Amino acid sequence: METLIIGKPKIEKLDNRARLCSEISEKGKPSYTLWFDVDAKYVDYLTESADAFVVALLPYAMNNCLNISAEAKMSKQLCFQLNEIFIPTLTKNSKLFNRISISAKELTQENYCSENASATGFSRGVDSFDTICSLSENSTEKLSHLTFFNVGSHRSTANYTPEQSAELYANRLEIAKKSAKIFDMPLIDINSNLGEHLTLPYVKIHHYCSFSAVLCMQKFFKNYYYASGYPISSFSIKQCDTGSAHYEAFTASMLSTESTNFYITGLEKTRLEKVDFISKFPITYDNLNVCYYGENNCGHCEKCVRTQFELMALGKLELYKNVFDIPKFYRDKDKYMNYVLKHQNKDYYAEILTLMKKNGFRLTPMQKIKKTVYAIYLKLRGH
Ligand SMILES: [Zn+2]
Repeated sequence: METLIIGKPKIEKLDNRARLCSEISEKGKPSYTLWFDVDAKYVDYLTESADAFVVALLPYAMNNCLNISAEAKMSKQLCFQLNEIFIPTLTKNSKLFNRISISAKELTQENYCSENASATGFSRGVDSFDTICSLSENSTEKLSHLTFFNVGSHRSTANYTPEQSAELYANRLEIAKKSAKIFDMPLIDINSNLGEHLTLPYVKIHHYCSFSAVLCMQKFFKNYYYASGYPISSFSIKQCDTGSAHYEAFTASMLSTESTNFYITGLEKTRLEKVDFISKFPITYDNLNVCYYGENNCGHCEKCVRTQFELMALGKLELYKNVFDIPKFYRDKDKYMNYVLKHQNKDYYAEILTLMKKNGFRLTPMQKIKKTVYAIYLKLRGH
């Protein structure tokens, strides 16, 4: 088996940013520098260990049958968890990932963390608000910082070029910074060229991407909270190839180190329960952004449509009149309803339909027929 080599990380100072870089090489391919950068005021928190780079490149290496060799120190805990538990378990249940091994020049049990920051990502989406609002009510643990990363998500859905992705990231970051002020917490943005080197769809690897950005600042982050994609009742290692959210609770514990802990939040809630919860916080009314495509909700992508149906079923849609074009949604509702009925077997849509029924939303006779026909079709297709 060939080897992917992670060079010793170095810190470079740019004008107003500080960058953690590592040379990545593999036989038969040009080497490149993988980097993460932060505001220069955080330079002392950049952590010169291989951990961030190992985690960032783990899906690529497992996908391409490459052992990883790090020419730098690495967390002993992380190395043990990956080699002995995570990789064997995951790869036994995957066609996408192959069993590989990880080695490093030195293994350390050092705890780098000096700032003890507790943070979560601030995307302005439902999951992100659910985490922030839940922790704001928690008496044991408080968030101290919000984060915003450019590690692949800003080019994932629409296959944007690096330039388009950089522009979308800059626009979203500007808005996130403004919105973050309402929480009275600093927002730390971490930029990276990782997105340019991803070869698998973002939905299958987003935990690795985000956690790698956190691990480049282990001196800073003690606890990092990542919003769940699915409730824990949907945990399925057998579905690991369809999305990393299917096994995220496992990943979070396995990618934690002596310095930084990862936690998945909201595992007890369905998506609709999260929407219901955040709709009790007026801070979300003018700030919710769920759109796949832009910094404002387009209103017609799958995520925008789904969220508007969820809010409508809950009787809360009018509260979000500043972030959704509600008259337009009602004009196009029948067209979108067709999509909902076609996907009634998916948890997201099944719970919308159940709540709509409970709250007195009536289907038209034609929609009732379609619902039955689609249900039979989905059953025959074995979904
Ligand atoms: Zn949209």
